[in-house]
Amino acid sequence: MCKPPLEKDWFMKSVARLLLHRTNIEVWHRGVDYVNQGRVKILRFDENEVEALVTGHENYRVFIKPLKKGIRKECSCPYQGDVCKHLVATAIIETALL
Ligand SMILES: [Zn+2]
Repeated sequence: MCKPPLEKDWFMKSVARLLLHRTNIEVWHRGVDYVNQGRVKILRFDENEVEALVTGHENYRVFIKPLKKGIRKECSCPYQGDVCKHLVATAIIETALL
């Protein structure tokens, strides 16, 4: 498999910036709480994408992949907004791993 490596800085900035701008401060803080409570388990991680299991009311599957424009993000929780606390928590952990 041949995937062009992404610049780490680009990846990190994309994830943090894009998600920050698309959520609100309350959700962001709840994501930080989840990190501090050790609720994020990284299942798969490389420079191109991250997959995690986040324990909230249930276990939620989170997937984040930066694209050339924007970001692909998925979470199995029922949150109706754009970016949930599980995505935030995963992005924070992922940023720390880089
Ligand atoms: Zn979620």
